[in-house]
Amino acid sequence: MKHLSILGSTGSIGVSTLEIVAAYPDRFKVVAMTAGKNLELFVRQIRQFSPRIAAVASPDDVPRLKEMCSGLDIEILGGVEGLTAAATAAETEMVVAAIVGAAGLAPTAAAVRAGKDIALANKETLVTAGHLFMEMVSRYGVKLYPVDSEHSAVFQSIEGHRSQDISKIILTASGGPFRNTPFEQLARVTVRDALNHPNWSMGRKITIDSATMMNKGLEVLEARWLFDAPVEKIEVNIHPQSIIHSMVEYVDGCVIAQLGTPDMKAPIAYALSYPERIATGVAPLDLTTFSGLTFFKPDLEKFRCLALAYRAINDGESMPAVMNAANEIAVEKFLNGEIAFLQIAEVIERTMDAHRAHDLTSIEEVLQADNWGRGTALTICGGLKN
Ligand code: NAD
Ligand code: MG
Repeated sequence: MKHLSILGSTGSIGVSTLEIVAAYPDRFKVVAMTAGKNLELFVRQIRQFSPRIAAVASPDDVPRLKEMCSGLDIEILGGVEGLTAAATAAETEMVVAAIVGAAGLAPTAAAVRAGKDIALANKETLVTAGHLFMEMVSRYGVKLYPVDSEHSAVFQSIEGHRSQDISKIILTASGGPFRNTPFEQLARVTVRDALNHPNWSMGRKITIDSATMMNKGLEVLEARWLFDAPVEKIEVNIHPQSIIHSMVEYVDGCVIAQLGTPDMKAPIAYALSYPERIATGVAPLDLTTFSGLTFFKPDLEKFRCLALAYRAINDGESMPAVMNAANEIAVEKFLNGEIAFLQIAEVIERTMDAHRAHDLTSIEEVLQADNWGRGTALTICGGLKN
């Protein structure tokens, strides 16, 4: 029996994780769960999985959640301390880090310090604090399994190989809903257009990140840290069918790829049950139903967010955390209808222009850089309206 804490249980990854847990009651037990705002779903999950601890992001929601859970034998907590308690619960062996955004960093880092293995969906942890987080993973001797489909594909494609034999990591990208939209039309796309992802069903923030291709920039950073690979060895290919989830090229010219029907349950299950493979209900792949698998290079002029991510990688130090913070603010403002699609990149770029990258030596300093990026991006967004 593997004991789990699920951070972000009400999200897209959280719900898929619980589907797997529900299918294997003899294999997985949920010790703790956390959620943001969707208390109705959270309470249904609490009733189904009977965790010992449930934590909500805002301490203000604790009284209401307590009321909704009255009569249940459960500890209800709130705020960063509550999320941390859920991430570090004594019986927990593995933490599924599925909170969205930099909000996932502190509880995930706390889980590592408490010696928990991590199934990592929250890519922002590695984007903002990559070198510190990987150092902690090695210092505390915990295992880190990628949940992001591309990184799971790379993880599966490098097993049994020597890292010095890798010549290239090729991350595939669907290209999102605007893959074929001319740049001139991007100025007018709506929130609804941007949320209409062709291949994957995901949370709103990552869906917008896919539309701007910032998601792929975040994933290059994620791969850089997870696989200790220089960024020059990480290539992005647009592959509209999302069948090859990523590939690894070796010095002898051989390329190993991982394929499958696009469904996050496959990489989640692999992270949960590694090294075993368990049935997931993911539809089998029938390649004969595809007329072709295609690949092309991304257009960095059109997808400026991807170019900005490369710039942040080159600047290094605090710049990726600041870029990530500005992106979170800009995406939220876009989703609220306050800024236009192309202004997402503008807000990020201007925030980065205003930042001088500096060394980050602790998670607290990462959170300070994140905070600075948020404040600056908010001010820039405010100025856009005038
Ligand atoms: P989501 O928005 O569907 O869910 C996010 C979860 O985090 C919810 O439970 C929400 O309540 C909680 N949350 C939100 N803000 C919070 C805060 N400030 N404090 C604490 N909890 C908070 O997101 P998702 O699509 O499930 O993505 C989760 C993470 O996984 C992201 O980092 C994303 O990039 C990554 N990821 C997702 C997918 C996918 O298919 N959805 C694929 C790869 C990677
Ligand atoms: Mg991905």
